[in-house]
Amino acid sequence: MKHITNLYIEPTTECNLSCSICSRNHWTNETIGHMEHHTFERMISSLPPNVERIVFSGVGEPLTHPNILSLIAQAKATGCKVGLVTNGVLLDDTMANELLKLELDELWVSLDSVHEEEVSSLSGDMDNINVYDNVLAFAKKRPGHYTSPKTTTLGIAFILMKSNLQQFRHLLKKAPFMGVDMIKATHLLPYDEAQLSEICYERLLGMNLFQEQQAITTHVDIPLMESSHLEDEGILNQLISPTLSASLFEVPIVRQKDKCKFVEDGYIFVRWDGEVSPCVALLHDHYAMQQGVKRFNGSCSYGNVKDCSLQEIWDQREYQEFRKRVADFVFSPCTSCGPCDLFETNGADCSGNIFPTCGACLWAQGLFQCP
Ligand code: SF4
Ligand code: SF4
Ligand code: SF4
Repeated sequence: MKHITNLYIEPTTECNLSCSICSRNHWTNETIGHMEHHTFERMISSLPPNVERIVFSGVGEPLTHPNILSLIAQAKATGCKVGLVTNGVLLDDTMANELLKLELDELWVSLDSVHEEEVSSLSGDMDNINVYDNVLAFAKKRPGHYTSPKTTTLGIAFILMKSNLQQFRHLLKKAPFMGVDMIKATHLLPYDEAQLSEICYERLLGMNLFQEQQAITTHVDIPLMESSHLEDEGILNQLISPTLSASLFEVPIVRQKDKCKFVEDGYIFVRWDGEVSPCVALLHDHYAMQQGVKRFNGSCSYGNVKDCSLQEIWDQREYQEFRKRVADFVFSPCTSCGPCDLFETNGADCSGNIFPTCGACLWAQGLFQCP
């Protein structure tokens, strides 16, 4: 992608929850802070012309930024579609009214067992908060609630874990009646041994599903059928195997491999302090458990919006070269190999690539996705 199309802004790294799965617990050399007004102003006043969508997200709770409504208003004034990702705790009646008044285009709320547990442990003024109720109330307030199109798209972000799959099933049943337009499920990035046992994709990594597959020889097209039969006979598992590609009534069950949506679709991420990264995975220094080892993922910035415009940063030679490496996906296949000594960081790989390497990135293998 030649242009910036999607601008993700991290307004703050502060949060009103302390989830066990939060990457903030495993940051190194990072401080917590809010984006300053002049940083935001500088960035938004020289917005590149092809930006279509601005999303307030990142690691932290955007609604804890003291001026978030003014930031949203300024983002809306650019003519872009504007979205917000929240844990929903502060989505009370007043906030819902304000967001609707600003004609927010997308609202994404994290609604899964991890967030639920944290919300239920809140105390003081915050106890008795029920994010489900907040979501329901927001959905009903939207002009067009009973019709389509609605003024604000309402989405649920859900982190899949072994222990909450039943909750996910319930959500699928309830979502249409709650007024939810979209559910974006993703996987858990485990940060310690205990969380490792919760992931739902270990078999996919173990079976080298994502390596170059000379073995793929057969394409199978199946008709609509009752899923219980697919599950009972283990057919579903077989369909996501390295030896087959599959489609459901001619609609391909796409298996993504070595493809970075962020880079290919023109995404750019701005951290709360103005540093600019190509993706959410490279926004903060952090450790995570991968292939059974604690791996350090260093953050990568190609500039700071306090010093230059987004377009100048995007056009920088080093950034262009990085995007080319990602588009060609020249990296070693670390998700299905390893771990070797080089695997312990994203600093280098055995194909001679240097920081930041993307061969171990689970976003690029279709396992992780962001709203
Ligand atoms: S809501 Fe998000 S940012 Fe806040 S603690 Fe939980 S995972 Fe971290
Ligand atoms: S860098 Fe290590 S883990 Fe990655 S592909 Fe090479 S040998 Fe395997
Ligand atoms: S492949 Fe992964 S680490 Fe590399 S730019 Fe894309 S999301 Fe970031």
